[in-house]
This record gives sequence, C-alpha cells and structure tokens, in this order.
Amino acid sequence: MKKSLIILLVVSLFSCKESKANSSQKEEIKEQSLFVIKNVNIIPMTIDNTIIENATVVIDNKKIIAINGSVPAGAKTINGKGKWLIPGLTDMHVHTDTNTNFRDSKPTRGANVFFDTQGVMSLYIANGITTIFDLGARVEHFGQRNEIASGKVIGPRMALAPQIDGGNQSWGRRANTPNDGRQAVRSAKAEGYNFIKAYNFLNVETFKAIVDEANKQGLKVVGHIPEPFRGKLEEVFVPHFDMVAHSEEYAKFSKNKTTEDAQYFAKLAKKNKTWLTSSLTTMIWIGSQLRSLDEISNSEYNKYIHPIILDRWLNPTTNSYYNRTSPEFIAHIDTFIDFHKKLIKAFNDAGVPIVAGTDSGVSGVIPGFSLHDELELMVDASMTTEETLAAATRLPAEWLGIDKEVGTVEVGKYADLVLLDKNPLEDIKNTRTIHGVFVNGTWVTKEKIKIMLSELAQYNEENKDKFKWENRWKY
Ligand SMILES: [Zn+2]
Repeated sequence: MKKSLIILLVVSLFSCKESKANSSQKEEIKEQSLFVIKNVNIIPMTIDNTIIENATVVIDNKKIIAINGSVPAGAKTINGKGKWLIPGLTDMHVHTDTNTNFRDSKPTRGANVFFDTQGVMSLYIANGITTIFDLGARVEHFGQRNEIASGKVIGPRMALAPQIDGGNQSWGRRANTPNDGRQAVRSAKAEGYNFIKAYNFLNVETFKAIVDEANKQGLKVVGHIPEPFRGKLEEVFVPHFDMVAHSEEYAKFSKNKTTEDAQYFAKLAKKNKTWLTSSLTTMIWIGSQLRSLDEISNSEYNKYIHPIILDRWLNPTTNSYYNRTSPEFIAHIDTFIDFHKKLIKAFNDAGVPIVAGTDSGVSGVIPGFSLHDELELMVDASMTTEETLAAATRLPAEWLGIDKEVGTVEVGKYADLVLLDKNPLEDIKNTRTIHGVFVNGTWVTKEKIKIMLSELAQYNEENKDKFKWENRWKY
C-alpha cells in the first residue's frame, strides 16, 4: 500500500514535470519551423539568376514562403547582413557507407560492420550538401533515407540508383542477356528505385535493352560506357541514355586524348541529350595515391572517415591504387587528368549540361568536403562560377526530377539553402565559407556543424584500434 502510494507520487511528480517539458519542447519546435533571414543577398540560381540584394527570406514549415514579403510574428531571426544565400548543393555521384556484412552470409545473419548514419551524413550537411545521388544503391540505403525522413538523422535527400553489370565479377545486379537486363530493371522499379546505373561489362544488346526498359518503366539511366562499346562508341548513344557517370568514361575511349576527340564526344552527347557528371577530383586522388600515400594520410579531413575505411586507404597493401602502381599506370592516369579539362571545356562549349559529382567513397575522396574541390576543378577547366554553381544546384534537381521542390531559391521551394559568408560568384572557393545550412527547413548553425564534426572525429579516434580492414571478416 505504502509502496504504491510512493509510486503514485513519483509518477504524478514526473508527469507534471514532463508536461511542462513537453509544452516548452512544442513551443521550441513551433518556433524552429518559422525563420526569417534578414538583409541577405540571394543568389537564386534560377535561369536568369538575378541577384536580390539585402533581401528578407521567410521560411515556414520547411518551405520558403516569402521573399521581401511580410514577416509573421514569432519568426526566429537569422542575420544575413553581408552574407550570400544559395540553394543547397548536390553531389551527383556518391557511394555512402552503410552497414555491411563482410562475412559469408547465413540465414538470419545481419551486418557485421555498422556505420552510424548520422556520422555518414554529417559530412554532407557540414558542407552544404542537401541532396546526394548514390550510384551503388542497396536496400540499406533505403534504411538511411528513412532515418533522415523520420527526423532521427539530419541528412540530405537521397536519390538512389542500383547498379546493373554484365560479366560475372562485379557486385550489384547482373545481366548478360537483353531479357535479364529488362527483368533487372523491372525488379529495381518494383523495389522502389527511380534510377538505374549501368556498369562496365554489360554487352551491347543488354545495355540497349536496359536503357529501353528503364524508359518504359519511367526510370532514368546513368552509367559508365561499357567496355563492349570499344570501337563502336557511337552505338552507346541510344535514346534515354540520360547521363554518363564520370568524365573518365570518355577518356578511356580516347586514344590520343586530343581536343578534337573531346569535341567529337561532346557532339555525340549533345545530340543524344546525354548529360555529364564531372567527377574530376577522383582521378586527381587516384594519381596522388599511385605516387604515394602521403597526401591522403596528411589530409585534415581523414579524421571524419570511419576507421575501418581509413585503415584500408592508408595501408599500402590494401589501398587499391597504391598496391598496383607502376610508372606506366601513373603516366596513363596523368593523361586522363589532362584530358578531363579538355572534355569539360568541350562539353560546356557544346551546351551539354554538366553536373557536379565526386565519386565520394573512392579512397581519398572524402564525402562532402570533396564537392568543393570538384567545383574548383570545374572552374579550372574553364566553366564560369555561375555555370559551376548551376551544376551543383539547379541542374541536378532538373535531372533528378525534383526541380519543382528544390534547386533554386524561390518562393514555394523547400528550404534547402546554404548561407555563405562570401560571394561564390566572385570566387568559387567561397562555397566553403559556410555560416549555416537549411536542410528541409531545419536550420543547422555553424556551431552545430562544429559539434557534429567533432563528435564524429572523436568517435573515429576512440575506435581506431578496434577496426582494422584485414579483420573485417571476423567482426
Ligand atoms: Zn562511382
């Protein structure tokens, strides 16, 4: 009797306290959905891209509801004076780490190495990236996307393309006949994917069947140019081959790496409406690792990479570039790096839409941070700062079919925004001067970003002896 009374008392005290906490929490949530950014310079990244100076932007319930309109009472104010507001950035070629089963699979056995989704996604958010396109998507990525959608994790929008390959060596789905190719596409559609990634060893007829079936099913196709197209590159440009996944695909089909070759490829792509994902930074990192592991091991951003991955990158025997290096390989990669600049210029001059993608997940290519390297390389390759920004904002949204929702700073769009200290149109390096990020209407301050990154670095540091690549089968 006495005991139950005490319990009752404790419960009632607790519930009283909880209801107070709840109401203040609710107020906080309500307050946090309504923001006003004052005196900010907007770079809208619409096609005409007229800069709106000293503007007032109101965000409510995840969306931009007014630009230079009235400000509702109770909005949280963000001082935008002297700052620049751009759309959230997109990385159009990533490979995000997910929980993985490295062991032989057995019924009921799950992953044996786990990646905290917030840790994976913090790098994108910290770098102003509010949409990513994963080109090696698996069922685990739906799990990550759901964690973000439910609000448990602050992360970007995720577009997912599963890979279909031919031959018998690669990972992902496999198809060596047109019928199997079509079935692989239909399965992917049934599983909820919106895109298909075509890979290196698809034979000519299977590749064509995949592209055709994907179009019938309403899925867009991004891909490599498969090896069997050697000597007949023109044939790969079938209707609805929507995008080539990196510049290297063209480089590998160019014997002499000339400007004329670059212009010829651009003409083919333009005629077929096949876009290009830049992916310039990857090849530079490959070139670096073929020479030595010094640059990769000295990178200030290494601390954000999960220890099992970093161990693989930094170990000379497991680094998948360093362990097969040769003077010939180095010279070969150098010709690619040089040709990529010609390629970007030729494609841009020809009016082929180019989007920014890094292939993050490849060793050395650090998620998030690498997109800013990519943007610099695009400007180095002769694109204007405005074209380069479009390649990471409006154009990816258009290709992904989400341009009514995101990609520009306009009333009615979701608040995926980056507030910068400096103008990126003056110098593309200024995309790094991040003051804060809105992702789907959630305001992530510079201070919050600092905390997210330092927590991640701390976890990685504390666990670095626990995770070794060579032990991945044993965990
Ligand atoms: Zn890739």
